Amino acid sequence: MNKPVLLVVDDDAQVLAAVRRDLRSRYRESYMVVSASSGEEALATVRELKARGDALALVISDQRMPGIQGTEVLARSREVYPLARRVMLTAYSDIDAAVKAINEAHLDHYLAKPWDPPEERLFPVVDDLLDSWQAEYLPEATGLRLIGHQWSPQSHAIKDFLASNLVPYRWLDVERNPDARSLLDAAGVQAHELPALVFEDGSVLRSPEPREVAAKLGRPLSAAFDVYDLVIVGAGPAGLAAAVYGASEGLRTLLLDQHAPGGQAGSSSRIENYLGFPAGVSGSELTRRAVTQAQRLGAEFLVPLEAIGVSIEAGYKRLALGDGREIVTRTLLAATGMAYREHPAPGMSEFAGAGVYYGASATEAPVLAGRRVVVVGGGNSAGQSAMYLSRYAKDVQIVVRSESLRESMSQYLVEQIAKTPNVRLRPLTQVERVEGSGHVERVAFQPTGGGPSQVEDVDAVFVFIGTRPRSDWLPAGVRREKSAISSSRFGKYLSASVSTTPALTVFTRMPRGPSSCASARTSASSAAFDAPMKP
Ligand SMILES: Cc1cc2nc3c(=O)[nH]c(=O)nc-3n(C[C@H](O)[C@H](O)[C@H](O)COP(=O)(O)OP(=O)(O)OC[C@H]3O[C@@H](n4cnc5c(N)ncnc54)[C@H](O)[C@@H]3O)c2cc1C
Repeated sequence: MNKPVLLVVDDDAQVLAAVRRDLRSRYRESYMVVSASSGEEALATVRELKARGDALALVISDQRMPGIQGTEVLARSREVYPLARRVMLTAYSDIDAAVKAINEAHLDHYLAKPWDPPEERLFPVVDDLLDSWQAEYLPEATGLRLIGHQWSPQSHAIKDFLASNLVPYRWLDVERNPDARSLLDAAGVQAHELPALVFEDGSVLRSPEPREVAAKLGRPLSAAFDVYDLVIVGAGPAGLAAAVYGASEGLRTLLLDQHAPGGQAGSSSRIENYLGFPAGVSGSELTRRAVTQAQRLGAEFLVPLEAIGVSIEAGYKRLALGDGREIVTRTLLAATGMAYREHPAPGMSEFAGAGVYYGASATEAPVLAGRRVVVVGGGNSAGQSAMYLSRYAKDVQIVVRSESLRESMSQYLVEQIAKTPNVRLRPLTQVERVEGSGHVERVAFQPTGGGPSQVEDVDAVFVFIGTRPRSDWLPAGVRREKSAISSSRFGKYLSASVSTTPALTVFTRMPRGPSSCASARTSASSAAFDAPMKP
């Protein structure tokens, strides 16, 4: 197999030669640097690479060229290689165009010319983009393969577990993919043993639970120490931020999560309002960075591991875990965030994981190519999900009870939706029931103002109708804020990582003596300061 490709596009021969030279000097061991002197040539190269089965890791394109412009090169190469990272090369005077292109071409970065010295202004950007590309890329025919039935809830659970934990895998639908059958025969897997996870060394897990998968992947499942300074339950943005601060203060810090790092944010296809990411960032990329940062600073991380209760003895907190074990800590920080609210309509719970999904659009979207999907809800998460699904599904309907999305969704998403031909809004409507045989096949829509329901063929339903706090595992003595019951739309990241977050509660033993669990604190970062120093 050829090395993955870095494609550089510029109509200025001197600039093109300089970028090519710099990239080759640093990346030639692992990548092949290919250049094109026009947009037309670049797109022809992209098509040729695809036809040859080569991987495209990065496209760096000038914006102003005769003929096809840089934004179009980047947008169209994304259609062929969705994972390829996209960088625009701009003259200083073109920065406005680059900022505009962030939305249109979904740029990952823009680089101002000249980029000298490359060690400071080019390589750090490219290193970073290639690291994130590597984290998602899986070469054809190698790596982890998951074989199962598309509408099986167990297959969905494993897919979701792998994707949320940033483990690249290839999905093979046993009914649609001819390779699946031959792989199953070779591995000696019977139909009733699906889903099956086939590892690169040929070993197989049959109908596995997420914990078995984690163990097989070599993920630690038990704590390294008997006592911690800080244990953080929940590895969403709040928990990850707290782990970074705890570990960086020298506290013995353990972070655990029942599912995966990233929390709700991890399932976001593109977060636009996180400080320091002008081109937006995907939830998985943000998570990858945060986990790396926390671990580099010394935080220990265990997943999947559920906290089910807490008791306090002489100021120490005993955390009861779902696997029957306990962890002792001086300070416990609960950053368990929110759980999706279940949709009450008949059929929703019956088909959960079999066509009805909560927040899992990134996992399921690629297999919904050419199908019809419904997104229920009018918030930002519903909007992001609809936009992401529109890249695969042929028809995406957003179902809301209100008249429009303006009250509940950010303006930038409302505009993106309006411009996307295969996404349409179904206002003043609610889902009455979901029907099908073994999986979702039809949805009955009911006008909120009354009148007859309409039944339509639908392949999948994604539900985003709000969240509820996940604080029920905490003892009754813990004070809970009323605001934890509703989830506000704005400033959640700020609240999660810097100041108050509704579902965030810290039990702390203050430096001069134990305190009760009623002394709840509400700052992720303050955990690091409130917790006593290591003995
Ligand atoms: C699709 C989507 C897109 C979004 N986009 C944006 C956006 O663009 N901008 C924005 O500002 N906000 C966005 N949000 C909202 C944002 O993601 C949340 O506000 C944020 O994730 C909250 O962080 P958190 O750490 O408090 O909790 P959560 O993200 O809810 O994380 C809580 C974690 O705790 C774990 N957990 C729960 N209970 C237990 C237990 N008992 N034991 C162990 N672990 C447990 C969960 O598995 C989870 O990983 C989006 C949300 C979604 C769903």
